[in-house]
Amino acid sequence: MIDVTIIPIFDDNYAYLIETSSGACAVIDAGQAEPVIDILNKRNLRLEFIISTHHHWDHVDGNMELKEKYDAQIVAPSKEALYIDGVDIALKDGDIFDIGGEIMCAIETPGHTLGSTCFYFKDSHALFTGDTLFSMSCGRLFEGSAQDMFRSFQRIMKLPDETLIYCAHEYTRGNAGFCLSQDRDNPHLKQRIKEIKELRAQGKPTLPVSLEIEKKTNIFMKAKNAEEFAALRIKKDKF
Ligand code: ZN
Ligand code: FE
Repeated sequence: MIDVTIIPIFDDNYAYLIETSSGACAVIDAGQAEPVIDILNKRNLRLEFIISTHHHWDHVDGNMELKEKYDAQIVAPSKEALYIDGVDIALKDGDIFDIGGEIMCAIETPGHTLGSTCFYFKDSHALFTGDTLFSMSCGRLFEGSAQDMFRSFQRIMKLPDETLIYCAHEYTRGNAGFCLSQDRDNPHLKQRIKEIKELRAQGKPTLPVSLEIEKKTNIFMKAKNAEEFAALRIKKDKF
């Protein structure tokens, strides 16, 4: 099993520290090095892997400092390896990667960028979605099409309901407002909104969230086809 620590960075990003029971340690989406170093120092851990879900600066800018400090290896989507500095290991769809005995699987989920990849730890029921899936929304379509993102969502939705989703941004509250505007009478959505308001009032993250709850509340998961998905994404852009 992996142990996950949420590391808030910048205004609303999350980097995630992963520790295995064998003592191995990796970070996902280290947009900033310092907050990661602080936690590693406090816990006396040595970083082995730096993993990026996609090439945007807020997900990779801490990579090289961490790589040099810990002699760690950078793991990135193979389709984006050219746009990310210092990549040592490039993973393509379906590749598996061993972190201290824990198996991580790469699932290519284009849409936000063409090579955006989710990282799945099946045994721990954990999925790191970068900017592909946010709680109650999806990432903006900077490089891919709505069709790409719709297909990526369909793949994620095939994972077990108990899968815990770790997104790279704390956008949940804003996203909830959009979902509510499209889905006014959904009791699951009202319940989730109540919970996230309490969490945010206490300064706590709204993540992880289970895939089961996302299926009940994320309006983008209710789109029946790419056209419906595209229409929602356009409305959300204007919301
Ligand atoms: Zn991004
Ligand atoms: Fe981002």
